[in-house]
This record gives sequence, C-alpha cells and structure tokens, in this order.
Amino acid sequence: MKYKSKKEFLDSVVDNYSDQKEFHQAVEEVIHSIWDTATSNEEYCKFNILDRIVVPDRTIIFRVPWMDDKNNVHVNLGYRIQFNSAIGPYKGGLRFHPNVNLGVLKFLAFEQVFKNSLTGLNLGGGKGGSNFDPKGKSDKEIMSFCYAFMNELYRHIGRRTDIPAGDIGVGGREIGYMFGQYKKIRNAFTGVLTGKGTNWGGSLIRPEATGYGLVYFVLEMLNVRKDSLKGKTVTLSGSGNVAQFACEKLIELGAKPVTLSDSSGFIHDPDGITQEKIEYVKKLKSVRSARISEYAKKFNVEYVEGKRPWSIKCDIALPCATENELNLDDAKQLTDNGCYVVAEGANMPSTTNAVHHFINQKILYGPGKAANAGGVAISGIEMSQNSTRIPLSRDKVDGLLKEIMQRIHTTCVKYGKKDDFINYVDGANIGGFVRVADSMIDQGIV
Ligand code: NDP
Repeated sequence: MKYKSKKEFLDSVVDNYSDQKEFHQAVEEVIHSIWDTATSNEEYCKFNILDRIVVPDRTIIFRVPWMDDKNNVHVNLGYRIQFNSAIGPYKGGLRFHPNVNLGVLKFLAFEQVFKNSLTGLNLGGGKGGSNFDPKGKSDKEIMSFCYAFMNELYRHIGRRTDIPAGDIGVGGREIGYMFGQYKKIRNAFTGVLTGKGTNWGGSLIRPEATGYGLVYFVLEMLNVRKDSLKGKTVTLSGSGNVAQFACEKLIELGAKPVTLSDSSGFIHDPDGITQEKIEYVKKLKSVRSARISEYAKKFNVEYVEGKRPWSIKCDIALPCATENELNLDDAKQLTDNGCYVVAEGANMPSTTNAVHHFINQKILYGPGKAANAGGVAISGIEMSQNSTRIPLSRDKVDGLLKEIMQRIHTTCVKYGKKDDFINYVDGANIGGFVRVADSMIDQGIV
C-alpha cells in the first residue's frame, strides 16, 4: 500500500489540486467511508484504485464567446469533466452560475460517479457548465449563449459517450436550445441530452424526478423506524426544480412543508405550503431573476432577508439549493429544535462538520448522492426510451423511480448498517464505490 495513512492520501489530493476546495471536501467525505474497503482489498491495491478514482478521465475547458442584445461581445468559460466511465457513458448535469469553476465541477462530477453507480443503471459520471449568469438575461441572450456553448461542447458528447442534463441555471428551456444546436451541427436527432421536452424525446416525470425521488428516499428512511410522513413539518431550502417537486410530493403524502428560499432569503409559511401555492412558485420561478420574497407579499407570510431556513422548528429538513448551505451551527440548531431527518436534494449542501454532527446525533441523515439520485435515474430511463423509441407512461416511470430509490436505500443499509444505526454516508459511498472499482479492475489499466 502506497500510503501510510488516510491523511497522507488526502494531503496528496490537496497538494495536487490546491485551489479546488470543494473537490477536496467531496474526496475527503468519500475516502473516510471507503478507506478500509479500498485498502484491505488486494486487487484494489494492486490496481491502485484509490489514486485512479480521484483523477478524471479528462477535463475539457473552452471559450464561449456570445453577443448580448446590445451587440456587446462577452466571453465565458465552458467546462465538461468526464470523470469515470467504468460502468457507462458519462452522465451528469450542466450548471450555469457565476460561482462555477473547476473545483466546483470536479466535486460535482466526482459525486456523480458514486451516485450513478448507486442507481444500478449503466451510467458513468460527469458534470459541466459555465460561469455564465443567466439571471437578468433576455430569452434571446440565453439562446445565444446556449448555442455558443454547444458550438464547442458538441464535439465531446454523444449518446454513447457523454449525455449531459440540467442543473442549477439549466432547465427545460436551456436543454431545448442546446439540443436544437447539437441536432443542427451533427444533423442527427439522438438522445444526447436528457431533460428534453416530452414532444421531442423527453421522459414523463423527469422534471419531477429529483424532488419526488428525494421524498421517496425519506419515506424509506422513515419506514425503518416504522414512521411516516403524515403530519410532519418540513423545512426546505431552494425554490427551483428540486425544491418545487419535493414540496409537491410532500403535500401529496400529507406532510407540511413550511419554508422555501433563494439566494436572497427565505419565506416561512407556518400554515403549510399548499399545491396552489407551489403552482404559484413554479410560475414565479420560471423567470430566473424572480425572488421568493414575492411569495411572502402574495400570501402575507414572513420573509427573512439574507438567511437560510434552518432556524425554523421542523421534524424533517431538506436542503435543496446549493453546496455548503447548511453549516455546523445550522445543524445544531436543527437537532436542538427536534429535527430528526435530514435528506439532501442539493449536492453536498451540508458542510463536513454539519455531516459529522448529524451522524454523531444518530439522526436519519441521507446524503445527496443517495437521496437526490432520482433525477439521474430517470435521465437513464429517458435514455432507454430514446433507444427503444417507445415512451413510457407516467405511472410506469414513477413506479421505476420508486423502485430505484428503494434499491438505493437497500444498498445504503447493506453497506452502512452497524448495530442498530444506519450510516447512510458510509452506505452510499461504499455501495457506489465497489461497483465502479470492480468494473475498473475488469477493464484493466485504462
Ligand atoms: P434551480 O436552478 O432550479 O434552483 C436552484 C435554487 O437554489 C434556486 O432557488 C436558487 O436561488 C438557489 N441557489 C442557487 N445558488 C444558490 C446560492 N449560492 N445560495 C443560495 N441559494 C442558491 O436548480 P435545481 O433545483 O435543479 O438544483 C438545486 C440543487 O439540486 C443543486 O445542488 C443541484 O446540483 C442539485 N441537483 C439537481 C438535480 C436536478 O435534477 N435538477 C439532480 C440532483 C441534484 P436563486 O434563484 O436566487 O439563484
């Protein structure tokens, strides 16, 4: 074994990629879980899986020049990280947000490798995006940017190579523009992106899948304690795709969601967010610059500027906005107030210290790579519908989503249960790792 300790290995990752702090955080979390598995297995050591699994297959960075409505020319950076294809073609979203950089996308792509493995489908891991800020841009500017982005990305992706999807700042509209441009350049109508419109190859339930899947995962966690969602108060952050559909499913299953947020602040609706109110949020947030504070004005509830919703008393907390949005103080406040379930709709929303707190408190804590895998799972189902050219019904896709979330939960229990406690972090990391590592060994040194 090349490394004397876990610390020595993690230090080497920090040394090699010194400016990629989100990537270090993601690697550290995974390595803590898989260390014993990876270092006690002779084959994993012989094939040096540890060193290989933290290096992407390739990292593509490119220039994206585009013109705004006033004929000013702008340049943004475009990225695609093709991290690991041991179990399938690269799959993972595209993020358009000013905070996007190599460290953020490498963390997301690394997480995606394990998440996609957990789904049980043949999907490798990747992620991409740009530091382009869609807020305040006209529809024409969004279209220009999406075309410019695809003018380079097209040569690196393909339905058997790499199949991007949406993420923060990239929804159905952006996928449409990028798909249109890919089709024009390649002169081929293929399922090269997921999250497409249902008229042109998209899957029913794909928009809902991450949020619904998150709630199905929470149900599985509660089932272990013979508990249910009925009457539970739930705080959520975010008000985009994941938060909206998580809220919708919570309402359907008899829970009471009481908060939503955006990067400006959060609303608290103690009577509970209803289906009618969530329809309002969907409409409101279809304009990217719209603020959740409008909800407070419309429904006459409290709005807290510049804060996140973790001070609000709840049974269940679902962070659904972005990375590192829930720190140790927030975690303590949540558990002090009686919260006993935290499941992540967002990727890595809890800081490392917050995660340790949840595990020490032995609450039900579902990390993003398990709890939010429903989105990519249904993207996988969209790919299979594109291949067979037979669209599946809403009920069929929803049934598959439930089945996959149950399977992920079972894997977490298999690898994470010790005595009476299920450590979902260990379960998800080890369960995701073993399948990828074994496949890497089968394929030799590539
Ligand atoms: P959206 O763009 O639809 O919504 C993002 C939401 O998060 C908005 O409310 C946004 O507020 C808020 N947000 C974004 N950045 C920040 C920030 N820096 N601080 C505070 N709030 C912020 O994205 P999604 O709902 O699709 O994604 C949310 C999370 O879920 C991300 O972590 C994503 O990676 C993860 N995820 C998404 C999947 C999907 O299928 N869409 C699949 C799996 C994970 P504002 O409007 O102010 O920017």
